[in-house]
Amino acid sequence: MPLTLGKRKLPYLSDAHSHLTDPEYSEVLPQVVSYIRARDILIVCVSMDTKTSIKTLELSTQLKDQVLPFVGIHPWNASTESANNSLAKLEPLAAKSKGVGEIGLDRKYAKAEDQYEVQRRVFAATLEIAEKALKPISVHSRGSQDDVISILPSYRLKGVNLHWFSGTLEQLRKAVQMGCFFSFGPTVVYSKKTKELLRNTPPDLLLTETDGPVRYGACFGNKIALPSFLPSVLFALSHELKMRFDDCLDLVETNFRRYIQL
Ligand SMILES: [Zn+2]
Repeated sequence: MPLTLGKRKLPYLSDAHSHLTDPEYSEVLPQVVSYIRARDILIVCVSMDTKTSIKTLELSTQLKDQVLPFVGIHPWNASTESANNSLAKLEPLAAKSKGVGEIGLDRKYAKAEDQYEVQRRVFAATLEIAEKALKPISVHSRGSQDDVISILPSYRLKGVNLHWFSGTLEQLRKAVQMGCFFSFGPTVVYSKKTKELLRNTPPDLLLTETDGPVRYGACFGNKIALPSFLPSVLFALSHELKMRFDDCLDLVETNFRRYIQL
């Protein structure tokens, strides 16, 4: 139930990219589920392969309306998953999901050119699935920003989030022209590069994320990222954009709902 202040519903915090079904969460998942239930938080739960895609769909039934399941094949798993004929299994799962992700390319992870080719084939196939299912996507583009930016316009996609975007300002400008969203995570608290990308992103394309269970340094103390990190991320966003915290919360929730078509 959303909290209310008088007649006004308080805005939701939102995490546009989290891996709640990652095995690293298994020990703390009951507490995380209780925390989400008790708070006004919306979370996109992305998946790494068909196994976690099924787990994500199951988790979302426990936290209806708050955990939005995305199914996908991460570029790190492109080789093993394409050998397992996972793309055929993914399509029916996508029909039951709210979106497709985590998908994309990662040049640094493909040691040989043929491995990168497999990533490209799996990325193209998952984009086709998202296009057909009319679902938004969550994209990994580390070290492959130019390729991702040149591939995406070939598909009619509903909403694109270039999560934890770490490209150049020129690559950012191109992706902004395409209307992509950008989810900023805990690094916005301490990274000069992230802050610079943030200042160059139009406010109506901003989202927040944790990318949990990634561990962050600085004030986050290398603990696995939890939904409770979101207020810190949002505070850093509001500080950098010189906005009131509440206005920033409203803005990010509005963007999130537009991205996810809620
Ligand atoms: Zn991720």
